[in-house]
Amino acid sequence: MLSKATRIAIIGGGLGGLSAAIALKKIAGVQATVFEQSNKHDEVGAGVTIAPNACRVLDKLGLLEPMRRAGAIPDGHGVYLDAMGDVVTDAAWEDTSRQYQNIGMYRPDMIDILAKAVDPEAIRLHHRAKSVEILDSGVRVLFENGKQEDFDAVIGADGIRSVVRKAVGQPTHFVYSGYMAYRGVIDAADLPKDWKRISQTWMGNDRHLMTYPLQQYKLYNYVACVPSDRPLKGPWSGPADVAEVHAEFSRQKWDPRVEQFLSAIKETFWWGLFDIEPLTNWSRGPIALLGDAAHSMIPHQGQGVNQAFEDCITLAFFLKEADSVSDIPEAFRRYTAARMQRAAILQVGSRRAGAMFDSQLQFTNTRKRNVDIASGRDFRRAVVFDYDALKVAENTLQRFQRV
Ligand SMILES: Cc1cc2nc3c(=O)[nH]c(=O)nc-3n(C[C@H](O)[C@H](O)[C@H](O)COP(=O)(O)OP(=O)(O)OC[C@H]3O[C@@H](n4cnc5c(N)ncnc54)[C@H](O)[C@@H]3O)c2cc1C
Repeated sequence: MLSKATRIAIIGGGLGGLSAAIALKKIAGVQATVFEQSNKHDEVGAGVTIAPNACRVLDKLGLLEPMRRAGAIPDGHGVYLDAMGDVVTDAAWEDTSRQYQNIGMYRPDMIDILAKAVDPEAIRLHHRAKSVEILDSGVRVLFENGKQEDFDAVIGADGIRSVVRKAVGQPTHFVYSGYMAYRGVIDAADLPKDWKRISQTWMGNDRHLMTYPLQQYKLYNYVACVPSDRPLKGPWSGPADVAEVHAEFSRQKWDPRVEQFLSAIKETFWWGLFDIEPLTNWSRGPIALLGDAAHSMIPHQGQGVNQAFEDCITLAFFLKEADSVSDIPEAFRRYTAARMQRAAILQVGSRRAGAMFDSQLQFTNTRKRNVDIASGRDFRRAVVFDYDALKVAENTLQRFQRV
């Protein structure tokens, strides 16, 4: 067990960084310090799905019940529909044991629950890391506010534009998907009374609309993805005019239910969809990456933050096995070995899912697309949702002990 005096910095206080602080405290007994560039923990006013694989992790961290109370569990399996409303297939929404279901969460609620579970003394806002440097013993972090601090180890949870990724010797560039999303929430009262409380993905020729309930069904999240080169010309996101969404979706014919749904949108903002190529390493000595810094993926499988939760429990498990600070680099190597392949499969799979939902690439043949989506449902349940990150970490440790 690491001593309580071990100094670990987590760079980034988003969903991944805060969860890492909670897992390290609960499982490895280490109080890490979270450094966040903003002056508050902020999240966009949109939704995020907690999938069963992450519910399993949150359950172990004591966070599942608060999430369930604040979120919305759909009434049953979701559906994939074509533009004219024909159901292509139902969608996986729970694990095989039926213990855990998808939970639709309003992001500000999620970050609030996580931030409240971290000791306020362990959070430093308004600290933007500028550089991270390995010393003969430990790691030095320089902040843009002029401060500098040394630590025994550093965890980079600083998102897709990670500064820490550079210190791990990994590429810092990102890949634009060619798509942007209009995102936001709709008040349930503005939808027809019989609107189904499930997730729905409406798939058009080169665009799609996804929606699911949040906040005990008071809100509905929407993500409307369309091809665009706008994010290549300036900022990656910003407020948008609702008329833009209507104009984008009027380019083809949709079932009247889609038009009804879109007409309930009162506010929207756009978001460029970027990811990174799978990295070749997530750690170097006493520095490790986590969340989007390690495996940013486009959102079409709804697994970005779910993978961050899996990272957190795995990292905490291997740090619990460390006896002293000198064992941390080995703990980080084991964490990387346990996590990297799983996340890479989901990074690549998320691109493929986007092509399916938008009938692109090999999926312009919609009959093939429909067969693939239907067979993907069982894969999703068995491979993505049934995954137990802690068990995988335990098995990985046994493998290392045998070597
Ligand atoms: C449209 C859309 C829908 C999505 N839906 C889902 C979904 O349903 N399910 C799912 O699992 N995932 C989803 N995702 C992905 C998910 O949002 C991300 O994977 C997740 O937010 C990543 O969390 P993170 O903490 O790793 O990174 P971030 O959220 O990017 O947080 C990084 C934090 O680090 C801070 N930071 C950055 N640089 C520095 C620095 N140098 N110093 C200090 N602080 C710094 C930032 O301010 C931020 O707070 C979706 C994404 C999009 C775009």
